[in-house]
Amino acid sequence: METLVLVNLFHELALKGGNRPLFLKRAKAHVQRALKGTEARLEALWPLALLFRLPQEAWPEARARLGETLGVESFARVLRTAPDLEALKAALAGILEDGGFASFRIRAQRSDKGFPLTSPEVERLLGAFVRERTGAQVRLKGAEREFRVRLLPGAALLEAERHLGPGGLPPGVSGKVVALLSGGIDSPVAAYRLMRRGAEVALVHFHPFPLLPGGSREKAKALAERLVRFQHRLRLHLVPFSEVQRQILLEAPKAYRVVLYRRFMLRIAEAIAREEGALALATGDSLGQVASQTLENLHAMNGAATLPVFRPLIGMDKQEIKAEALRLGTYAISILPDEECCTLFAPKHPVTRADLEVVLEVERRLPLKDLVALALREREVVAYAWPGRKPLGEKAGQAFIMEHGPAGG
Ligand code: ATP
Ligand code: MG
Repeated sequence: METLVLVNLFHELALKGGNRPLFLKRAKAHVQRALKGTEARLEALWPLALLFRLPQEAWPEARARLGETLGVESFARVLRTAPDLEALKAALAGILEDGGFASFRIRAQRSDKGFPLTSPEVERLLGAFVRERTGAQVRLKGAEREFRVRLLPGAALLEAERHLGPGGLPPGVSGKVVALLSGGIDSPVAAYRLMRRGAEVALVHFHPFPLLPGGSREKAKALAERLVRFQHRLRLHLVPFSEVQRQILLEAPKAYRVVLYRRFMLRIAEAIAREEGALALATGDSLGQVASQTLENLHAMNGAATLPVFRPLIGMDKQEIKAEALRLGTYAISILPDEECCTLFAPKHPVTRADLEVVLEVERRLPLKDLVALALREREVVAYAWPGRKPLGEKAGQAFIMEHGPAGG
């Protein structure tokens, strides 16, 4: 048995003026890649919708994947019937057996202008049928259940089971961004927010290995394995940070350590952004959340980068960020214990109003260029691809690591 799946693309894709064909093409390719390994075949396509045919047993996997596919507004398992009212009623009767709703609406869309009834007429007639069968009321706004019907030349499609996708734009249509990924809760959400706006994100993680065990590195990798599902290809740069930290510990007033760590992170991330062809950096800062995220400190940090630093979570509170991390599946990884470099020798009382003069004075005594060059040289790059090349089965849900080794190798 086979299942038909109708994928509706994000409405914003239709508003892209001259870029519309490119956006739609990217969205289509992204959806097709998301279904790789499920044996889904594209049956038909409209400007904002794609119809796939796939083996029935692949539907649960396809449903899980489409629910996380950027650019997908909604998707549904659909039934194909003859293009007439009686056939549609018979199909509806089959779905209604699971009943269980007090209000509903029918939405008909007529692509075949030769169909003898108008869309409102189809909605009224099918609505009356469902009301009779179930006793449920028609409600145009806020109905518990919605049945969508598409009338095509030669066939009709009835949505039997409807799900929401994440919306957003497909990866890469907005250019590249380098996101700073700590092991914490916030930065994976920040990276996702940019992915959702069509940025192609590359990740950079700074770790204190070999000064401390490599725990935060493993977390960063686990987070990348989770995030690759949204972008399908993802690079993670793992940058050793202990030499930078050693020099800051020697030269800087205690209270300024974190601000200085951060400035180096931005500097090194910016060098990676140049390599990647990225035009911006991103962090998971949220205004006032911790001492390092006061306005004065963010200001003192920003000066270290010339590229814009995006902070998509700046106006969100911890509860909102946590809820999103739970939805994305990053939360459980983020709360694992680790030793990350920002807490290493972090002072009890960090500055909350960093004086830029003090920062610059310390940096004049540090070999900035050499430290950036060393970090770049000693970095590892891990490339992830998802879905893996393996066919549907035990391992299909896992990220496929394509390469893992020193940068430039
Ligand atoms: P997060 O939950 O993302 O760790 P946080 O609330 O702990 O954020 P900070 O530790 O002050 O806040 O970090 C702020 C931002 O700086 C992070 O969101 C991240 O973008 C960046 N950052 C901090 N530490 C690292 C690191 N070790 N590697 C890469 N980026 C980092
Ligand atoms: Mg943190």
